[in-house]
Amino acid sequence: MKLSHWEWNSFFRDLDIVIIGSGIVGLSAAITLKRQDKKLRILVAERGILPSGASTRNAGFACFGSVTELLDDLKNHSEDEVFSLVQKRWKGLQRLRALLGDKQLGYEPLGAYELFKTEEAAVFEECSGQIADLNRKISMITGAAKTFSIRDQHVSALGFKGIQHLIFNQSEGQLNTGQMMAGLLEIAKMEGIQILNGLSIQHLEEDARGVRLQTTQGWSIDAKKVLVATNGFTQKLLPNLQVTPARNQVLITKPISGLAVKGCFHYDKGYVYFRNVGNRILLGGGRNLFAKQETTADFGMTENIQQHLKNLLHTRILPGKNIEVERWWSGILGIGESKTPIIRHISPNVVTAVRLGGMGVAIGVLTGEEGAMTLLAH
Ligand SMILES: Cc1cc2nc3c(=O)[nH]c(=O)nc-3n(C[C@H](O)[C@H](O)[C@H](O)COP(=O)(O)OP(=O)(O)OC[C@H]3O[C@@H](n4cnc5c(N)ncnc54)[C@H](O)[C@@H]3O)c2cc1C
Repeated sequence: MKLSHWEWNSFFRDLDIVIIGSGIVGLSAAITLKRQDKKLRILVAERGILPSGASTRNAGFACFGSVTELLDDLKNHSEDEVFSLVQKRWKGLQRLRALLGDKQLGYEPLGAYELFKTEEAAVFEECSGQIADLNRKISMITGAAKTFSIRDQHVSALGFKGIQHLIFNQSEGQLNTGQMMAGLLEIAKMEGIQILNGLSIQHLEEDARGVRLQTTQGWSIDAKKVLVATNGFTQKLLPNLQVTPARNQVLITKPISGLAVKGCFHYDKGYVYFRNVGNRILLGGGRNLFAKQETTADFGMTENIQQHLKNLLHTRILPGKNIEVERWWSGILGIGESKTPIIRHISPNVVTAVRLGGMGVAIGVLTGEEGAMTLLAH
Protein backbone atom coordinates (compact mmCIF):
# COMPACT_ATOMS: atom_id res chain seq x y z
CA MET A 1 0.00 0.00 0.00
CA LYS A 2 1.27 3.48 -0.88
CA LEU A 3 1.01 6.45 1.49
CA SER A 4 -1.57 9.08 0.58
CA HIS A 5 -0.62 12.73 0.13
CA TRP A 6 -2.31 13.46 3.49
CA GLU A 7 -0.58 10.67 5.35
CA TRP A 8 2.80 11.68 4.04
CA ASN A 9 2.36 15.35 4.85
CA SER A 10 0.89 14.95 8.31
CA PHE A 11 2.98 12.10 9.68
CA PHE A 12 6.25 11.73 7.78
CA ARG A 13 7.29 15.00 6.14
CA ASP A 14 10.38 16.94 7.32
CA LEU A 15 11.31 14.58 10.12
CA ASP A 16 14.34 15.70 12.09
CA ILE A 17 14.78 12.46 14.02
CA VAL A 18 13.41 8.94 13.79
CA ILE A 19 13.92 6.72 16.82
CA ILE A 20 13.53 3.02 16.12
CA GLY A 21 12.05 1.21 19.12
CA SER A 22 9.78 2.49 21.91
CA GLY A 23 11.31 0.62 24.83
CA ILE A 24 12.70 2.44 27.85
CA VAL A 25 15.71 3.59 25.80
CA GLY A 26 13.80 4.87 22.76
CA LEU A 27 11.24 6.74 24.87
CA SER A 28 13.84 8.27 27.21
CA ALA A 29 15.85 9.40 24.19
CA ALA A 30 12.76 10.96 22.57
CA ILE A 31 11.84 12.81 25.78
CA THR A 32 15.42 14.08 26.18
CA LEU A 33 15.57 15.32 22.58
CA LYS A 34 12.22 17.09 22.78
CA ARG A 35 13.20 18.74 26.06
CA GLN A 36 16.42 19.94 24.44
CA ASP A 37 14.58 21.47 21.50
CA LYS A 38 10.78 21.70 21.41
CA LYS A 39 10.80 22.38 17.66
CA LEU A 40 12.32 19.02 16.71
CA ARG A 41 10.01 16.80 14.63
CA ILE A 42 10.52 13.40 16.17
CA LEU A 43 8.94 10.11 15.18
CA VAL A 44 9.27 6.97 17.29
CA ALA A 45 8.74 3.92 15.07
CA GLU A 46 7.62 0.87 17.03
CA ARG A 47 6.87 -2.38 15.25
CA GLY A 48 4.62 -3.74 18.02
CA ILE A 49 1.17 -2.72 19.22
CA LEU A 50 2.94 -2.09 22.53
CA PRO A 51 6.69 -1.75 23.09
CA SER A 52 7.58 -5.37 22.26
CA GLY A 53 10.96 -6.41 23.57
CA ALA A 54 12.10 -6.31 27.18
CA SER A 55 10.82 -3.05 28.65
CA THR A 56 7.21 -4.19 29.21
CA ARG A 57 8.17 -7.79 29.98
CA ASN A 58 10.91 -7.58 32.61
CA ALA A 59 10.91 -8.43 36.30
CA GLY A 60 11.03 -4.86 37.63
CA PHE A 61 14.13 -5.30 39.80
CA ALA A 62 15.65 -1.91 40.59
CA CYS A 63 19.07 -3.44 41.13
CA PHE A 64 22.73 -2.55 40.64
CA GLY A 65 24.59 -5.83 41.26
CA SER A 66 24.66 -8.86 43.55
CA VAL A 67 27.83 -10.01 45.35
CA THR A 68 28.43 -13.02 43.05
CA GLU A 69 27.91 -10.85 39.98
CA LEU A 70 30.30 -8.16 41.20
CA LEU A 71 32.98 -10.71 42.14
CA ASP A 72 32.58 -12.47 38.77
CA ASP A 73 32.90 -9.13 36.99
CA LEU A 74 36.01 -8.26 39.01
CA LYS A 75 37.64 -11.46 37.71
CA ASN A 76 37.18 -10.33 34.09
CA HIS A 77 37.28 -6.52 34.26
CA SER A 78 39.26 -3.84 36.04
CA GLU A 79 37.97 -2.48 39.34
CA ASP A 80 37.38 0.87 37.66
CA GLU A 81 35.18 -0.70 34.99
CA VAL A 82 33.14 -2.71 37.49
CA PHE A 83 32.42 0.14 39.89
CA SER A 84 31.77 2.67 37.17
CA LEU A 85 29.06 0.30 35.89
CA VAL A 86 27.64 0.06 39.42
CA GLN A 87 27.69 3.84 39.57
CA LYS A 88 25.90 4.06 36.22
CA ARG A 89 23.20 1.68 37.41
CA TRP A 90 22.78 3.55 40.68
CA LYS A 91 22.66 6.92 38.95
CA GLY A 92 20.31 5.51 36.31
CA LEU A 93 17.86 4.35 38.95
CA GLN A 94 17.88 7.79 40.55
CA ARG A 95 17.22 9.37 37.11
CA LEU A 96 14.34 6.97 36.44
CA ARG A 97 12.81 7.71 39.85
CA ALA A 98 13.23 11.46 39.34
CA LEU A 99 11.68 11.32 35.86
CA LEU A 100 8.59 9.33 36.79
CA GLY A 101 8.28 9.59 40.56
CA ASP A 102 8.09 6.65 42.97
CA LYS A 103 4.29 6.65 43.00
CA GLN A 104 3.97 6.18 39.24
CA LEU A 105 6.75 3.56 39.33
CA GLY A 106 5.17 1.69 42.22
CA TYR A 107 8.68 1.78 43.63
CA GLU A 108 9.19 -0.22 46.84
CA PRO A 109 12.54 -0.14 48.67
CA LEU A 110 12.22 -3.71 49.94
CA GLY A 111 15.85 -4.66 49.33
CA ALA A 112 17.18 -7.73 47.52
CA TYR A 113 18.59 -11.05 48.64
CA GLU A 114 21.07 -13.37 47.02
CA LEU A 115 20.40 -17.04 47.81
CA PHE A 116 23.11 -19.67 48.28
CA LYS A 117 22.19 -23.35 48.04
CA THR A 118 23.49 -25.82 50.59
CA GLU A 119 25.96 -27.10 47.99
CA GLU A 120 27.26 -23.56 47.32
CA ALA A 121 29.10 -23.23 50.65
CA ALA A 122 32.43 -22.43 48.98
CA VAL A 123 30.89 -19.67 46.80
CA PHE A 124 29.24 -18.20 49.89
CA GLU A 125 32.54 -18.26 51.82
CA GLU A 126 34.24 -16.34 49.01
CA CYS A 127 31.38 -13.82 48.86
CA SER A 128 31.08 -13.26 52.59
CA GLY A 129 34.84 -12.64 52.79
CA GLN A 130 34.49 -9.78 50.30
CA ILE A 131 31.46 -8.02 51.80
CA ALA A 132 33.41 -5.47 53.86
CA ASP A 133 35.52 -4.43 50.88
CA LEU A 134 32.50 -4.20 48.53
CA ASN A 135 30.58 -2.19 51.12
CA ARG A 136 33.44 0.28 51.42
CA LYS A 137 33.62 0.79 47.65
CA ILE A 138 29.85 0.94 47.12
CA SER A 139 29.46 3.44 49.99
CA MET A 140 31.33 5.93 47.82
CA ILE A 141 28.57 5.54 45.21
CA THR A 142 25.37 5.19 47.25
CA GLY A 143 26.40 6.84 50.51
CA ALA A 144 25.14 3.79 52.46
CA ALA A 145 27.76 2.30 54.78
CA LYS A 146 26.53 -1.29 54.82
CA THR A 147 24.92 -2.19 51.51
CA PHE A 148 25.45 -5.94 51.89
CA SER A 149 24.90 -7.99 55.05
CA ILE A 150 24.45 -11.68 55.81
CA ARG A 151 20.87 -12.59 56.73
CA ASP A 152 20.95 -16.39 57.16
CA GLN A 153 18.47 -16.03 60.02
CA HIS A 154 15.76 -15.09 57.46
CA VAL A 155 15.87 -18.41 55.57
CA SER A 156 13.31 -20.17 57.74
CA ALA A 157 10.95 -17.16 58.02
CA LEU A 158 10.97 -16.87 54.22
CA GLY A 159 10.23 -20.60 54.02
CA PHE A 160 12.92 -21.59 51.49
CA LYS A 161 14.20 -25.16 51.23
CA GLY A 162 17.75 -26.20 50.35
CA ILE A 163 19.02 -22.66 50.91
CA GLN A 164 21.75 -22.24 53.50
CA HIS A 165 22.77 -18.60 53.22
CA LEU A 166 21.33 -15.23 52.28
CA ILE A 167 23.14 -11.98 51.52
CA PHE A 168 20.88 -8.93 51.75
CA ASN A 169 21.31 -5.74 49.74
CA GLN A 170 19.52 -2.94 51.58
CA SER A 171 19.80 -0.38 48.77
CA GLU A 172 17.92 -2.22 46.01
CA GLY A 173 14.19 -2.04 45.31
CA GLN A 174 11.46 -3.12 42.96
CA LEU A 175 8.97 -1.41 40.72
CA ASN A 176 5.90 -1.96 38.60
CA THR A 177 7.17 -2.49 35.06
CA GLY A 178 3.79 -1.78 33.42
CA GLN A 179 3.33 1.49 35.30
CA MET A 180 6.92 2.50 34.40
CA MET A 181 6.26 2.10 30.69
CA ALA A 182 2.77 3.60 30.82
CA GLY A 183 4.33 6.61 32.59
CA LEU A 184 7.05 7.00 29.97
CA LEU A 185 4.50 6.79 27.14
CA GLU A 186 2.39 9.43 28.90
CA ILE A 187 5.33 11.84 29.24
CA ALA A 188 6.26 11.28 25.59
CA LYS A 189 2.67 12.10 24.59
CA MET A 190 2.65 15.23 26.77
CA GLU A 191 5.90 16.37 25.15
CA GLY A 192 4.24 16.10 21.72
CA ILE A 193 6.30 13.15 20.52
CA GLN A 194 4.73 11.14 17.71
CA ILE A 195 4.81 7.38 18.33
CA LEU A 196 3.58 5.13 15.55
CA ASN A 197 2.94 1.50 16.40
CA GLY A 198 2.96 -1.29 13.85
CA LEU A 199 5.77 0.51 12.02
CA SER A 200 8.70 -1.82 11.46
CA ILE A 201 11.97 -0.59 9.94
CA GLN A 202 13.82 -3.18 7.93
CA HIS A 203 16.68 -1.26 6.36
CA LEU A 204 18.67 1.95 6.86
CA GLU A 205 20.64 3.81 4.23
CA GLU A 206 22.49 7.07 4.66
CA ASP A 207 23.46 9.53 1.93
CA ALA A 208 24.31 13.24 1.73
CA ARG A 209 20.64 14.25 2.28
CA GLY A 210 20.12 12.21 5.44
CA VAL A 211 18.89 8.74 6.30
CA ARG A 212 16.32 6.72 4.38
CA LEU A 213 14.43 4.12 6.42
CA GLN A 214 12.76 1.32 4.51
CA THR A 215 9.62 0.04 6.25
CA THR A 216 8.20 -3.47 6.01
CA GLN A 217 5.04 -1.80 4.65
CA GLY A 218 6.93 -1.16 1.43
CA TRP A 219 7.37 2.61 1.61
CA SER A 220 10.27 4.57 3.04
CA ILE A 221 10.72 7.51 5.42
CA ASP A 222 13.44 10.15 5.34
CA ALA A 223 14.97 11.74 8.44
CA LYS A 224 17.95 13.95 9.15
CA LYS A 225 19.08 11.67 11.98
CA VAL A 226 18.23 8.22 13.36
CA LEU A 227 18.62 6.63 16.77
CA VAL A 228 18.51 2.84 16.82
CA ALA A 229 17.03 1.61 20.13
CA THR A 230 16.16 -1.94 19.14
CA ASN A 231 18.25 -3.76 21.78
CA GLY A 232 17.85 -7.56 21.36
CA PHE A 233 16.54 -7.20 17.79
CA THR A 234 19.43 -5.05 16.55
CA GLN A 235 21.13 -7.86 14.57
CA LYS A 236 18.22 -7.97 12.13
CA LEU A 237 18.77 -4.30 11.29
CA LEU A 238 22.53 -4.00 11.82
CA PRO A 239 24.05 -7.49 11.46
CA ASN A 240 27.59 -6.32 12.21
CA LEU A 241 26.86 -4.94 15.65
CA GLN A 242 27.79 -7.22 18.56
CA VAL A 243 24.38 -7.62 20.16
CA THR A 244 23.17 -11.16 20.83
CA PRO A 245 19.50 -11.80 21.54
CA ALA A 246 18.74 -13.78 24.68
CA ARG A 247 15.25 -14.92 25.57
CA ASN A 248 14.04 -15.00 29.17
CA GLN A 249 10.91 -16.89 30.22
CA VAL A 250 8.86 -15.71 33.17
CA LEU A 251 5.88 -16.88 35.23
CA ILE A 252 3.59 -15.20 37.71
CA THR A 253 1.53 -17.12 40.24
CA LYS A 254 -2.04 -16.58 41.33
CA PRO A 255 -2.36 -14.67 44.64
CA ILE A 256 -0.91 -16.59 47.60
CA SER A 257 -2.44 -16.02 51.01
CA GLY A 258 0.05 -15.24 53.79
CA LEU A 259 2.99 -14.86 51.38
CA ALA A 260 6.11 -14.17 53.48
CA VAL A 261 8.46 -13.63 50.52
CA LYS A 262 8.93 -9.88 50.03
CA GLY A 263 11.62 -8.19 47.96
CA CYS A 264 13.82 -9.22 45.04
CA PHE A 265 15.79 -12.48 45.03
CA HIS A 266 18.77 -13.57 42.95
CA TYR A 267 19.37 -17.32 42.61
CA ASP A 268 21.97 -19.33 40.66
CA LYS A 269 24.30 -16.33 40.29
CA GLY A 270 21.36 -14.23 39.09
CA TYR A 271 20.42 -16.53 36.19
CA VAL A 272 17.19 -17.14 38.09
CA TYR A 273 15.34 -14.28 39.73
CA PHE A 274 12.11 -13.95 41.67
CA ARG A 275 10.20 -11.32 43.64
CA ASN A 276 6.83 -10.70 45.14
CA VAL A 277 4.34 -8.68 43.12
CA GLY A 278 1.89 -7.88 45.91
CA ASN A 279 0.90 -11.34 47.11
CA ARG A 280 2.07 -13.20 44.00
CA ILE A 281 5.47 -14.55 43.02
CA LEU A 282 7.09 -13.57 39.72
CA LEU A 283 9.85 -16.01 38.75
CA GLY A 284 12.02 -16.06 35.64
CA GLY A 285 15.34 -17.01 34.06
CA GLY A 286 17.25 -20.25 33.66
CA ARG A 287 18.43 -19.45 30.14
CA ASN A 288 21.98 -20.51 31.09
CA LEU A 289 20.79 -24.15 31.26
CA PHE A 290 19.63 -24.11 27.64
CA ALA A 291 21.88 -21.40 26.26
CA LYS A 292 21.72 -22.37 22.58
CA GLN A 293 17.94 -22.71 22.58
CA GLU A 294 17.50 -19.36 24.34
CA THR A 295 19.85 -17.44 22.04
CA THR A 296 16.95 -16.23 19.97
CA ALA A 297 14.97 -13.08 19.22
CA ASP A 298 11.76 -15.12 18.95
CA PHE A 299 9.28 -14.95 21.80
CA GLY A 300 7.93 -18.24 23.11
CA MET A 301 7.88 -20.75 25.94
CA THR A 302 9.66 -24.09 26.12
CA GLU A 303 8.82 -27.17 28.15
CA ASN A 304 12.34 -27.54 29.63
CA ILE A 305 12.56 -24.01 31.08
CA GLN A 306 8.95 -24.05 32.27
CA GLN A 307 9.64 -27.34 34.03
CA HIS A 308 12.82 -25.97 35.62
CA LEU A 309 11.06 -22.84 36.93
CA LYS A 310 8.02 -24.77 38.20
CA ASN A 311 10.32 -27.20 39.94
CA LEU A 312 12.18 -24.37 41.71
CA LEU A 313 8.91 -22.76 42.72
CA HIS A 314 7.46 -25.92 44.23
CA THR A 315 10.61 -27.44 45.80
CA ARG A 316 12.78 -24.49 46.89
CA ILE A 317 10.88 -21.21 46.97
CA LEU A 318 7.44 -22.22 48.25
CA PRO A 319 7.91 -25.89 49.17
CA GLY A 320 4.84 -27.89 50.15
CA LYS A 321 2.39 -25.14 49.15
CA ASN A 322 -0.38 -25.51 46.62
CA ILE A 323 0.65 -22.76 44.20
CA GLU A 324 -0.90 -22.17 40.80
CA VAL A 325 0.77 -20.35 37.91
CA GLU A 326 -1.50 -17.71 36.40
CA ARG A 327 0.52 -16.57 33.38
CA TRP A 328 3.71 -17.24 31.41
CA TRP A 329 5.51 -14.87 29.04
CA SER A 330 8.90 -14.25 27.53
CA GLY A 331 11.04 -11.19 26.75
CA ILE A 332 14.17 -10.62 24.70
CA LEU A 333 17.40 -9.21 26.14
CA GLY A 334 20.29 -7.79 24.14
CA ILE A 335 23.60 -9.08 25.51
CA GLY A 336 27.27 -9.20 24.53
CA GLU A 337 30.77 -9.85 25.80
CA SER A 338 30.80 -6.50 27.53
CA LYS A 339 28.09 -5.31 29.89
CA THR A 340 28.37 -1.76 28.61
CA PRO A 341 25.74 -0.58 26.11
CA ILE A 342 26.82 0.37 22.59
CA ILE A 343 26.14 4.10 22.38
CA ARG A 344 27.90 5.46 19.34
CA HIS A 345 27.67 6.67 15.77
CA ILE A 346 27.65 3.90 13.19
CA SER A 347 27.52 6.50 10.41
CA PRO A 348 27.45 10.33 10.48
CA ASN A 349 23.72 10.56 11.22
CA VAL A 350 22.89 7.20 12.78
CA VAL A 351 23.52 6.46 16.47
CA THR A 352 22.88 3.23 18.35
CA ALA A 353 21.84 2.92 22.00
CA VAL A 354 21.58 -0.84 22.38
CA ARG A 355 22.81 -3.90 24.38
CA LEU A 356 21.35 -3.20 27.81
CA GLY A 357 21.83 -6.73 29.17
CA GLY A 358 19.84 -7.65 32.26
CA MET A 359 20.03 -4.16 33.77
CA GLY A 360 17.96 -2.01 31.43
CA VAL A 361 15.57 -0.87 34.14
CA ALA A 362 18.58 0.57 35.95
CA ILE A 363 20.44 2.03 32.97
CA GLY A 364 17.67 2.49 30.38
CA VAL A 365 16.92 6.16 31.03
CA LEU A 366 20.61 7.11 31.15
CA THR A 367 21.30 5.13 27.99
CA GLY A 368 18.46 6.91 26.20
CA GLU A 369 19.73 10.29 27.39
CA GLU A 370 23.28 9.48 26.32
CA GLY A 371 22.09 8.23 22.92
CA ALA A 372 20.10 11.44 22.43
CA MET A 373 23.04 13.68 23.34
CA THR A 374 25.39 11.68 21.08
CA LEU A 375 22.93 12.21 18.23
CA LEU A 376 22.78 15.95 18.87
CA ALA A 377 26.54 16.31 19.29
CA HIS A 378 27.21 16.23 15.50
C1 LIG B 1 12.29 -11.29 31.22
C2 LIG B 1 13.19 -10.12 31.47
C3 LIG B 1 13.41 -9.70 32.77
C4 LIG B 1 14.21 -8.56 33.02
N1 LIG B 1 14.31 -8.10 34.29
C5 LIG B 1 15.00 -6.96 34.51
C6 LIG B 1 15.03 -6.40 35.81
O1 LIG B 1 14.40 -6.92 36.73
N2 LIG B 1 15.77 -5.27 36.02
C7 LIG B 1 16.47 -4.69 35.00
O2 LIG B 1 17.17 -3.69 35.25
N3 LIG B 1 16.42 -5.16 33.75
C8 LIG B 1 15.69 -6.28 33.48
N4 LIG B 1 15.62 -6.76 32.22
C9 LIG B 1 16.32 -6.04 31.15
C10 LIG B 1 15.55 -4.80 30.70
O3 LIG B 1 14.17 -5.07 30.61
C11 LIG B 1 16.09 -4.37 29.33
O4 LIG B 1 17.49 -4.17 29.42
C12 LIG B 1 15.47 -3.05 28.84
O5 LIG B 1 14.07 -3.11 28.91
C13 LIG B 1 15.93 -2.78 27.42
O6 LIG B 1 15.23 -1.65 26.95
P1 LIG B 1 15.40 -1.21 25.43
O7 LIG B 1 14.56 -0.03 25.23
O8 LIG B 1 16.84 -1.14 25.08
O9 LIG B 1 14.86 -2.47 24.60
P2 LIG B 1 13.40 -3.04 24.37
O10 LIG B 1 12.51 -2.80 25.51
O11 LIG B 1 13.57 -4.45 23.93
O12 LIG B 1 12.86 -2.15 23.18
C14 LIG B 1 13.24 -2.34 21.86
C15 LIG B 1 12.02 -2.00 21.01
O13 LIG B 1 12.41 -1.94 19.64
C16 LIG B 1 11.32 -2.44 18.88
N5 LIG B 1 11.89 -2.84 17.60
C17 LIG B 1 12.83 -3.78 17.38
N6 LIG B 1 13.15 -3.84 16.09
C18 LIG B 1 12.39 -2.91 15.46
C19 LIG B 1 12.28 -2.48 14.11
N7 LIG B 1 13.02 -3.03 13.14
N8 LIG B 1 11.40 -1.49 13.79
C20 LIG B 1 10.63 -0.91 14.77
N9 LIG B 1 10.71 -1.28 16.07
C21 LIG B 1 11.58 -2.26 16.41
C22 LIG B 1 10.81 -3.60 19.71
O14 LIG B 1 9.50 -3.96 19.34
C23 LIG B 1 10.93 -3.05 21.11
O15 LIG B 1 9.74 -2.44 21.56
C24 LIG B 1 14.84 -7.89 31.93
C25 LIG B 1 14.64 -8.34 30.63
C26 LIG B 1 13.81 -9.43 30.38
C27 LIG B 1 13.59 -9.89 28.97
